[in-house]
Amino acid sequence: MVYTLEDELKKVLYGEEKVKTFKDLKEEVIETGKCGSCLGCVTFCSAGQLNALTVREDTPDFLDEDKCLECGICYLICPNINLLDSIQRKQMGWIPPIGTYIYLSSSRSENDKVRALATDGGVVTSLLHHMLDHHIIDGALVSKGLNPFSREPFFATTFEDLLSATGFGAHVSGGMKELERYSTYPRTLVGLRSSVPSDMTRIAVVGTPCQINTIRKMQLLKIIPAHIIKYTIGLFCIGTFSFYGKKRESLEETTGIPLQEIAKMNIKEDLRITTKDGETHRIPLEKLERFLRPPCRYCTDFSNEFADISVGGLGSPDGYTTVLLREPSFKKIYDNAIREGYLAERDIKNAGNIIRKIIDLTEYKKKKSQAYDGEADETNSEE
Ligand SMILES: Cc1cc2nc3c(=O)[nH]c(=O)nc-3n(C[C@H](O)[C@H](O)[C@H](O)COP(=O)(O)OP(=O)(O)OC[C@H]3O[C@@H](n4cnc5c(N)ncnc54)[C@H](O)[C@@H]3O)c2cc1C
Repeated sequence: MVYTLEDELKKVLYGEEKVKTFKDLKEEVIETGKCGSCLGCVTFCSAGQLNALTVREDTPDFLDEDKCLECGICYLICPNINLLDSIQRKQMGWIPPIGTYIYLSSSRSENDKVRALATDGGVVTSLLHHMLDHHIIDGALVSKGLNPFSREPFFATTFEDLLSATGFGAHVSGGMKELERYSTYPRTLVGLRSSVPSDMTRIAVVGTPCQINTIRKMQLLKIIPAHIIKYTIGLFCIGTFSFYGKKRESLEETTGIPLQEIAKMNIKEDLRITTKDGETHRIPLEKLERFLRPPCRYCTDFSNEFADISVGGLGSPDGYTTVLLREPSFKKIYDNAIREGYLAERDIKNAGNIIRKIIDLTEYKKKKSQAYDGEADETNSEE
């Protein structure tokens, strides 16, 4: 008999061991400070109608434990639980150390408006623009700056929508008050339920590695509405940061830059802060560790290994985006976007160097995760 991935999945789901539930998730992830508050567990809870779960101060919790159906979905889709990882890797033909990829490029948008607002080369925005124009997707779940310092999930169906969500969103031009709750992590998974209209059948999602990872798990388990996600665009990610409370002052101390002087921020192999006088300051990642959101300390995926296409600034000069194409069907879309002038590539002199940089940051994340694993909980506060 041939042993299939389906069999392996059944073994995980219905194996000898008792199904793990939200109770276990609380003990293993939430109470150990590893919860990233993506709220996937609450959003996709099978007992959602029964209000089994709730959110208390950004943290998932039982509202009524007796109403829990003990299906185990919350446990399996949590980005901090790796029960499905090996099946997921086999299904996607994952290979170490940075996952499968079929093509590498350094590209940029050919649209001036996009380039003016983009984090790097505006590839994400112009690729999605091309996909909307050609009706390859009905819309894209991106994240939009609510104010200069916080982002929320946003479903874009037009070029103007996309443009309004372009960029990293850390442009520090408004009042400092918003920084009180500044975090670079938006609730994209919640947006799948709250922002995407129910009649959509083909969407793309832009997200960090943890978000794309959860989407892959939902697709594996056939959890609605994962079936409408036809394309995933994954951002490289060294981690997401929060600058709550006292950390704001520490950020000024660490960087030596008054917050009101910051005009733009970007992350590549370090944090780049452009001040209003046009100067760019580079802050090593090691100095930023204390601002990392607690769950990001344990994440080992830098290059978004399960996305259809992964993008980041690392390895490209300013104004360009490094692109790792992983899913063959996406290559056609990308090629058409180049042919039709939505995107342009520059010549890459040394592709090996770019891959080396991506591997180096992947290893950096792995080492960091090992160092944090098992550390005391007092380091896990966002405040
Ligand atoms: C939290 C975070 C950490 C990152 N860390 C690194 C890194 O260490 N090294 C590196 O090389 N690149 C990193 N990136 C990726 C990089 O900043 C760019 O997003 C990427 O190069 C794409 O640039 P672009 O100009 O092509 O995208 P654009 O055309 O500017 O589009 C960016 C897209 O990303 C979405 N977006 C913006 N912020 C977020 C967010 N917080 N969460 C989810 N979606 C968002 C926007 O809605 C938009 O659709 C990180 C991105 C984020 C959001």
